[in-house]
Amino acid sequence: MKTNSVWTLSEVSGGKIHPVSFELLAWGRSLADDLKVSLCAVVLGNEICSEALQSLIQSGADEVLVVDDPALANILVKPHANTLKTLVDTFEPQIFLAAATTTGRTLMPYLSILVKAGLTADCTGLEIEPETQLLLQTRPAIGGNIMATIKTPTSRPQMATVRPKSKQALPKDLTRTGEIIWQSVPESCFATSVEQIEFLPNETDAASIEEAEVIVAGGRAVKAANNFALLQQLADLLGGTIGASRVPVDFGWQPYPRQIGLSGKTISPQLYVACGISGSIQHLAGIQTAEKIVAINKDPDAQIFQVADLGIVGDLFEILPALIDELNTNLT
Ligand code: FAD
Repeated sequence: MKTNSVWTLSEVSGGKIHPVSFELLAWGRSLADDLKVSLCAVVLGNEICSEALQSLIQSGADEVLVVDDPALANILVKPHANTLKTLVDTFEPQIFLAAATTTGRTLMPYLSILVKAGLTADCTGLEIEPETQLLLQTRPAIGGNIMATIKTPTSRPQMATVRPKSKQALPKDLTRTGEIIWQSVPESCFATSVEQIEFLPNETDAASIEEAEVIVAGGRAVKAANNFALLQQLADLLGGTIGASRVPVDFGWQPYPRQIGLSGKTISPQLYVACGISGSIQHLAGIQTAEKIVAINKDPDAQIFQVADLGIVGDLFEILPALIDELNTNLT
C-alpha cells in the first residue's frame, strides 16, 4: 500500500457499514482525484463480512484497510485509537477523514493527540488548494455566523471530521475493483483500562436522529413528557422522528440522544419542525444543515424565525392538532 493516500474511517455496526461512511468516500474520492493519489477506506471491527468491504470499493475506495479482531467488536476509545495510530504510523496517509458522528467525534480527537496532528471538527466543506495541495477544511464558526476555512500546513495527516449529510454518496459501481488489505497490529494496541461487560444496542430509534429526513422537535413549551405524543403524531404522519432542545432533555421528558444543538446532535434532515423552541445560538448550531425549517412559536420575535423558511406564530397546542387533522384528511 502506498503512502500519502487519502483515508476515510468507515464505521461498522452489526457487521454493516454505516451509511455515513459512503458519504465520506464521496468526499475522499474528489480529494484523492484532485491530488492524484489513492483513496483508502479504513475499517476496524470484528467478523466484518466481505460484501460490506466490497461495498466500500463499489462506493469509491481504491483500497480497504481492515483490522479485524474481537477487541474491536465495539467502540472502546483506547483500542480503536491505538490501532488507528499504528496504521497511520505505518502507512502515513496525508489526509484522514471521519464522520462527525458520536464515533468520529470521540475517536478522532484522541487519535489527533496520539499522532500529534491538528483536527478540524464538524466540517461542511473540503477541497484541495491548487497552489499548495493542502486540504482546505471549512466549517461554521462563532455560532454559525461565519464560515471558517482552516489549513494544516505542517502536521500530518491533515485530519477532519465531516458532518453527516454534507455530501451525497456516490452511486454504487458494481464493476469497480480494488484491494482489500487485512492488517494485523501488535496485541498491545488493544490494552485498555475499561472492562466491557455487555453491549446493549439502543432500543429506541433516537440513535438515528442524525440520519432522519424529517424531525419534529419540541422545546420547553411542550411542558411535559406525555405532550410529546402530539409531536410524535405529526412525525409519524410525515415519516419522521422526534427531537428536542436541551430543556426537555434536562427535565427528563426526552432521552439525551434526541437532543439537538451544540451539546447534542447535529442534524441534516430535509424538514425540521421546531415546536416551542426559541432558537438559542446553541440550538441553532445543531440545525444549520437542515434543508427546510418550519417554526411554530407564540412569540413573533422569537430568534428561531430568523432561520425558519416558514414561520407560524401561534400556540403549538392549537397549531399541531390542526396540522395533524389537515394531514390526516389529505393523506387518507
Ligand atoms: P426557551 O428558550 O425557554 O424557549 C421556549 C419557546 O417556546 C419561547 O420562544 C416561547 O415563545 C415559546 N412558547 C412558549 N409557549 C408556547 C406555546 N404554547 N406554543 C408555541 N410556542 C411557545 N440548547 C439546545 O437546545 N441544545 C443544545 O445542545 C444546547 N447546548 C448548550 C450548551 C451550552 C454550553 C449552553 C450554555 C447552553 C446550551 N443549550 C442548548 C441551552 C440553550 O442556551 C437554551 O437554554 C435552550 O436551547 C432553550 O430551549 P428552548 O428553546 O426549548 O426553551
